[in-house]
Amino acid sequence: MFGENEKLSIENKDGRQLKVTEIFSTIQGEGPNAGRVAIFIRLSGCNLACSFCDTKFDRYTQLTIQNILKKVLHERSKITSFTDGKTLPSIDKILVVITGGEPFRQNIGALCEILQENGFEVQIETNGTLYFKIPDNTTIVCSPKITNKVYHPIREDVLQKTIALKFIISCHLEGYDDIQEIGQQAFNIPVYVQPMDEYDLKKNKRNIDKTIKIAMKHNAIVSIQLHKVMDIR
Ligand code: SF4
Repeated sequence: MFGENEKLSIENKDGRQLKVTEIFSTIQGEGPNAGRVAIFIRLSGCNLACSFCDTKFDRYTQLTIQNILKKVLHERSKITSFTDGKTLPSIDKILVVITGGEPFRQNIGALCEILQENGFEVQIETNGTLYFKIPDNTTIVCSPKITNKVYHPIREDVLQKTIALKFIISCHLEGYDDIQEIGQQAFNIPVYVQPMDEYDLKKNKRNIDKTIKIAMKHNAIVSIQLHKVMDIR
């Protein structure tokens, strides 16, 4: 985190076992699914090392996808314990978010399949620079990142499955003070803008003001990190 992690490339091509940092249930705080109950699977390692990254993803346990499913089902049983094992009628499936680090560093196709076979809706959070084949119904939220002052190009196979692009906005880091066309128009992808948390009240206030200006300028949707507002994981 904070740019000090080792940059790791693609590994584990068959996807039957994955390096998992943590699995937990919470409220999705960001992007198009903000506010929904979700089970998070955080996978280890990232191919980038962003200076503002505040996620811990170095530690891991190697788990088979069957064991990952068991842990996800255990989380689901906690969520649905008061509804007798059923979800509320307003949302027919519980959301599983596969995140990292960079989840496409590992082959997550078989994990997505087994989760969908067990009745979950699956959404992946990625920086858009890596990809493994995933099932048709799995969706992607992509948050593009900058290295050497320019956005990493987003892969076309990622854009095809992306339901939202989430730009992080900062007045203090070069390149993050506006959004750019990086493929969203051709694929008609909704754009979210989210103020960067720089762990500094004055900087954060400036980032929020900037985010509002950019949203007004581009007709983008503002995303606030609800989990931080609620002080939950
Ligand atoms: S791409 Fe995301 S997870 Fe990876 S270092 Fe950057 S902010 Fe952290």
